[in-house]
Amino acid sequence: MIPLQSHPSGRHFLQIPGPSNVPDRVLRAIDNVTIDHRGPEFGVMGKAVLSGMKKIFKTEGDVVIYPASGTGAWEAALVNTLSPGDEVLMAETGHFAMLWKKMAERLGLKVTFMDGDWRHGADPAQVQTLLESDQAHRYKAVCVVHNETATGVVTDVQAIRQAIDASGHPALLMVDTISSLGSIDYRHDEWGVDVTVSGSQKGLMLPPGLSFNAISAKALAASDKAGLRRSYWDWKEMLAINPSGYFPYTPATNLLYGLHEALEMLFEEGLDNVFARHRRHGEATRAAVQAWGLEVLCRDPAQYSSVLTAVIMPEGHSADAFRKTVLQHFNMSLGQGLSKLSGKVFRIGHLGYFNDLTLCGTLAGIEMGLELAGVPYQKGGVQAAMASLAQSSSPFEQKAVKAA
Ligand SMILES: *Cc1c(COP(=O)(O)O)cnc(C)c1O
Repeated sequence: MIPLQSHPSGRHFLQIPGPSNVPDRVLRAIDNVTIDHRGPEFGVMGKAVLSGMKKIFKTEGDVVIYPASGTGAWEAALVNTLSPGDEVLMAETGHFAMLWKKMAERLGLKVTFMDGDWRHGADPAQVQTLLESDQAHRYKAVCVVHNETATGVVTDVQAIRQAIDASGHPALLMVDTISSLGSIDYRHDEWGVDVTVSGSQKGLMLPPGLSFNAISAKALAASDKAGLRRSYWDWKEMLAINPSGYFPYTPATNLLYGLHEALEMLFEEGLDNVFARHRRHGEATRAAVQAWGLEVLCRDPAQYSSVLTAVIMPEGHSADAFRKTVLQHFNMSLGQGLSKLSGKVFRIGHLGYFNDLTLCGTLAGIEMGLELAGVPYQKGGVQAAMASLAQSSSPFEQKAVKAA
């Protein structure tokens, strides 16, 4: 075994916004014999995870599961629906939106990138204006990131849908939910999304290695004419065999055991309770940041993420030096600032397998770390978070009261 932790005792706090902490139940489910992926048992599990994922996406349509990181599912969304030279509209919400744009350009698509300040979500009014001015319908797709993991800002997907509808434009809507699915309410069918992209290692509480596309009928029809080259990512072969619970190539069998267990956990808690829990922890985290006298990167309270909070470091202090102190002293990983935010922000993940005391431990580590790293701050962040938690009872508590 590779020595993974230099700290001899206690759990590592993996408080980056993905991968998130994997529950013991999920780890135990993964720790099982690998079975024949063409044998009778496999089909039962395959069908169960595919139908479970439909409930998570809130879709009656098709869902495909790839043995790949989220990046693979980004590529699948583009290559299955578009042709070389097609124009797409994307929004600069942060690092992940930039990476998706870069991929689109590498694949031979022409991207119109709506500029952003990395502190706001995609602007529906700008989407509407651009689509209304595109009388020739050159834009084939609008692509947005639901929860921009680099910034802790949420884009209102429903408002983007309404903007597309108001413009009367036929472009497909594609949404990256890699860090929101299973943590923030999301409705593929109701919001009229054509392709939703997601991954396993964030709200779904699994290790990295699985990713997903949820596909509308309109996207499926577009795939008939889409001219981008594809083979591994092609939806067709997947969809032909998935109804029986099988896959066209060797799936990540043990991760699917984990997915099966993670879905059980989410449904046991109830999706609405899961979302409420995340909102509550986001609120308490922001109460702590405010009490410390630090600034949350997200500018619009309506767009606060309940998955993570990006915190701006005071001028003259390195967020990376601070994170290093926290890791060395408390065995906790915090998220780093990505690309242009490098060294300027740190990100607190409060997603997935997480509860009130995990939050208090996380915030206590940060507050002690601020002191040790000599960052100017005011004491009382953890207190403020506890007060925020006390104001709203946890869904767990409500359940316990009901049962008593
Ligand atoms: C994590 C993440 C990605 C990248 O996913 P990988 O699994 O690292 O390929 C893309 N988009 C968002 C919003 C993410 O949070």
